[in-house]
Amino acid sequence: MGEDMKKVIVIGGGYGGLRAVEHLSGIEGLHITLIDKHPYHYLQTEAYGYIAGRFDLHGVAIDLKNWCLGFKKWVEFVHDEVTLLDLENKTVHLSQTKLHYDYAIIAIGAETNFFSFIEGLRENSFGVKKLRNAFNFRTAFERLLYSKVEDPLDKNKGVLNIAIGGAGLSGVEIAAEMADVIKKHTQSIGASTQEIKIHLIDASATILPGMSDYVVSRTCERLEDLGIEIMTDAFIEKVDASSIYFKDGRVLDFYFMIFTGGIKVPSFELSREVKKNNINQFLVDQYMRIPDEPSVFAIGDCVEIHDAQGQILAPTAQTAERSAEYAAQCIKQELERKELKPFNASIDGVFVALGGKYAVGEMFKIIKVKGYAAYLLKKLITYTYYIGLKLRVNTGFKKRTKTFDE
Ligand SMILES: Cc1cc2nc3c(=O)[nH]c(=O)nc-3n(C[C@H](O)[C@H](O)[C@H](O)COP(=O)(O)OP(=O)(O)OC[C@H]3O[C@@H](n4cnc5c(N)ncnc54)[C@H](O)[C@@H]3O)c2cc1C
Repeated sequence: MGEDMKKVIVIGGGYGGLRAVEHLSGIEGLHITLIDKHPYHYLQTEAYGYIAGRFDLHGVAIDLKNWCLGFKKWVEFVHDEVTLLDLENKTVHLSQTKLHYDYAIIAIGAETNFFSFIEGLRENSFGVKKLRNAFNFRTAFERLLYSKVEDPLDKNKGVLNIAIGGAGLSGVEIAAEMADVIKKHTQSIGASTQEIKIHLIDASATILPGMSDYVVSRTCERLEDLGIEIMTDAFIEKVDASSIYFKDGRVLDFYFMIFTGGIKVPSFELSREVKKNNINQFLVDQYMRIPDEPSVFAIGDCVEIHDAQGQILAPTAQTAERSAEYAAQCIKQELERKELKPFNASIDGVFVALGGKYAVGEMFKIIKVKGYAAYLLKKLITYTYYIGLKLRVNTGFKKRTKTFDE
């Protein structure tokens, strides 16, 4: 490494981290290191299709080492967990070693927030923000379908409920995809699979809180067509191994429960106290930097991000990527001794996958689309993202196997 090379460490290989590395790789004079506690990038946005059995494992997870090797310039991947960010000494602490940085980008994402005021929630439900959990739900769902087809009169007979707590984007997409799969099974292999009922539960007055009336109303119509029971204004008080107890006295028995009702940032130690909100998101300055730390940026779900009107933006892959591009651009401008412009966050639009070849979407608040056309647009967006990753992984894999062969 040349003397004048600057070391940039990106912590977290999620949507934000990968986009940051891509943009940093185009800047001269940088040595880039990506660190993740997992060896793979998990495409959470595709989790709904994986859980419902529509996509395979290789459609939701990408090897990070091969991906890093796929760049023309050297990008180092370290598979390890960051245990401390030492701001004073500009070092990142890993399980066995420490790495020095000139710039660091924190992109550690978020995990499911099992609200402590709901008794038993943590112990009796699982989120989908971990690949392991998505895998467990996929196998549980497949097993349930199989038992209905194979042995409808004996084990698991009668109506069985799948409860999804949280009707935001992820909860809605998972519910819709599972319901669509159940519908297809009912038609093709076993009428008794229709006894599997999906319940989508939210404490808000509506599903998809914060989204436009168009997206909410079209989504409700589709979910009802799929036979999903939508429960809004439904406050969960307690959960045990087989039932949800609501504040109004209702009880829902379930076969398994998925919880997607909220996020919080995983614990991450810094050498001094920094400002955070009540879900541990970093409160950053207008340049997405930790206040008083000009060389440390934080991006994506682990940050509270506001739009130009001061509204907090929902944590999305889109925002993670935008903030990543911005942080890389700031590093470039700093190196060129140019003045930084504040981050201007906005959302172009949203597409909600609603089972099979159906989606609802809205772009720039004026283009509204539903059904197959929306599905094609959503597919185009996700496929473009996936194919970009895949091409780089293939290049990296070839380089790696060539090295082994020699
Ligand atoms: C089911 C589902 C559907 C969704 N659908 C959409 C959608 O349609 N559109 C959309 O825009 N968004 C969607 N989202 C949200 C989107 O996935 C997140 O906003 C996005 O993943 C945030 O990206 P990120 O880079 O901030 O964090 P992540 O993608 O969560 O990545 C964080 C990374 O940091 C790593 N990490 C964490 N701590 C450490 C540590 N201490 N040391 C090393 N590594 C660490 C993790 O292993 C992980 O790889 C969906 C989410 C879910 C769960």
